[in-house]
Amino acid sequence: MLLKHPSQGASHAASGAAARHGRPSALPRLPARARPLSRPPSVSQADTKTDGSKKPLTPTAAPTKGSAPATAPEAPPRPSPAPSGPPGGPPDPKKKPSKSRGEILITRLTDDVYDAFSDVGRHLGRQLSNTQPKMLRSTTASMDGGGIEIARLDKPVMLVLGSGWGAHAIIKVIDTEQYDVIVVSPRNHFMFTPMLPSSAVGTVEFRSLLEPIRISNEYVTYLEASADHIDLNNKVATCVAESTASDGYHPTFQVSFDVLVVAVGEQPATLGVPGVAEHCFFMKEISDTVKLRTKILSNFELAALPGTPDAEIRRLLHFCIVGGGPTGVEFAGTLSDYLGKDLRRKFPELMDFVKVTLLQSAKAILTQFDAKLSQRAMENLRDTGVEVRTGVRVTQVTDTQVVLKGGERMDCGLCVWSAGNSSRPLVQSLVDVIPDQAGFQRGPATSFKLATDPYLRVIGARDVMALGDCSSVQGREDTLPPTAQVAAQQGAYVAHMLNRGYVLGVGGLEEMAPRRLAPTGVTKLIPGSSPLSSMTEAAQMAATRSEGAVVSMRRANGQPVSIYDITSDLVSRPDAEVEEYRRVFEFLSLGIMAYVGNDKAAIDTQMPVGQGGSSLNIYGSFAYLLWRSVYITKQVSLRNRVLILFDWIKAKFFGRDLSMF
Ligand code: FAD
Ligand code: MG
Repeated sequence: MLLKHPSQGASHAASGAAARHGRPSALPRLPARARPLSRPPSVSQADTKTDGSKKPLTPTAAPTKGSAPATAPEAPPRPSPAPSGPPGGPPDPKKKPSKSRGEILITRLTDDVYDAFSDVGRHLGRQLSNTQPKMLRSTTASMDGGGIEIARLDKPVMLVLGSGWGAHAIIKVIDTEQYDVIVVSPRNHFMFTPMLPSSAVGTVEFRSLLEPIRISNEYVTYLEASADHIDLNNKVATCVAESTASDGYHPTFQVSFDVLVVAVGEQPATLGVPGVAEHCFFMKEISDTVKLRTKILSNFELAALPGTPDAEIRRLLHFCIVGGGPTGVEFAGTLSDYLGKDLRRKFPELMDFVKVTLLQSAKAILTQFDAKLSQRAMENLRDTGVEVRTGVRVTQVTDTQVVLKGGERMDCGLCVWSAGNSSRPLVQSLVDVIPDQAGFQRGPATSFKLATDPYLRVIGARDVMALGDCSSVQGREDTLPPTAQVAAQQGAYVAHMLNRGYVLGVGGLEEMAPRRLAPTGVTKLIPGSSPLSSMTEAAQMAATRSEGAVVSMRRANGQPVSIYDITSDLVSRPDAEVEEYRRVFEFLSLGIMAYVGNDKAAIDTQMPVGQGGSSLNIYGSFAYLLWRSVYITKQVSLRNRVLILFDWIKAKFFGRDLSMF
């Protein structure tokens, strides 16, 4: 059966069509690759008969000569969420005999071993290779010399939005021989979020938690910008630069893509409480913790000045934390350590004025944890001097006060807000333009998530995947938690699927599974195209930095100049076979943990023990040791591991640094 690649099928006239649809064209445009502009025919449309029913896919046959690299054995399907999907849709247990648990484990293991070997092989290949990284920047930079890496033009472009847990896992694993990977994120680094509370008090230094994306994988192109708008029909993302030059230069540009991965996470939710955005401190970005660390110290320095009235000292040194989830609790615990150890030594005369209050709207803290652990965490915090108030609701925050429901007003010098997250505007706008998303959304637009099918394809969109906090996987019995664990596993899943050459098609519970040709051939440029001249031209235009500079490698004089085209392969192989991807995303929970202060941690392994349904819990100093070992081993590089280890040693022997700047 003939399967059309999603980038195939548009004509040169498409550029005119795009213009008619009002797509802005006067913006600099990346990447340096030519592609048709009109919406390609949908795979499901292509495979749909006129009466609307879908043609069954040809079953997989033995690969033919010259096939793509060996494929791992497909893992067995998870029980399907789609009761009556078409052939090729999410696996249906009614139709396919389910495998035994042992078989599932063995197949999964074989799959993982294959992935692990290919990841290591790719990594070593990169390290040993003498060639310079083939980055977009080097392509455009080499224009003057006339040398352009045409090789870059014959690969599909994967655009990854974000540089957090989900995106970073992709960046580490993706095969850049197969895709031109472009990462757009306002943050030029990955950040180890679980240690943000530690960095806010100086137990570890900020930079120890970070890995610049340009180091994570030097074969991907990183662009420091935010995606502002996605044109799903034309597969173009409009991006706005994060930085502004002193002359006001603040470019907006466009990136064309074949595959889009949305991993933009979420933003702190203010829950509509007045004053939160203006007066609260958050703990989401490294800049938040930088501000927080400075604020704590500056409050102490102010309070220590001669003549500061007692009431003002009391206010300055009252630290309020709103939100009794893991982040709020970890910060409360870490802050009380900092106050009780380092600051007590340096500001002993102020200690009688110091107070920490944790405000939680639910009846307990750490509600995700086993009830006993949550209780012990609460007791521990109280023992260390934190006032834990449950069942209270904040209704307003001012520059000096936190107001509770019922009218109680608390003077405070610092309010840290960690009361959950809400969706980013980009995600809300994507949900709005994909009609199929409406049925999966709950509550207001601020709680929208991109609904995906079990393969993490965005439901109702073509060649778009979403993962991490900004997404929710449908067709499962449970709801995946918004955690780094989930996002990182999803990132690796996406990269491994795409590395195997699967074409995503349209996402949906009743859509066909991702497929690939068996085997895929080498992509070709359409004869007669002249990418060299058009790229030079585009680079010259870009260099002028003038209004309307167009970095359009796709178009020159309004015409596409070269086309990434898999069709030529298909034409020569009309009987190409199709393979389905049958392994849906499965989350392997490694348990949850939180530091609760005073060298104690709570770990809920989420492994059920006994009849009562409670899970195996670890609490106290041993749990803290485990917490530390997990955080060290989970660092994304040896460099980060060493940095964190040194920070811990420094803090232990010399105390936390109290300088402010
Ligand atoms: P993020 O990691 O949030 O990444 C989103 C990325 O998208 C960022 O790089 C952002 O700059 C970028 N971005 C935003 N807007 C745009 C745009 N318009 N265009 C392009 N890019 C954009 N989870 C755990 O499992 N264990 C823990 O111990 C734990 N502790 C935590 C502690 C703290 C303080 C916090 C804040 C979170 C913690 N989490 C923990 C949760 C975990 O960090 C998140 O679940 C995880 O970061 C989600 O990953 P993500 O890739 O979806 O999003
Ligand atoms: Mg991410």
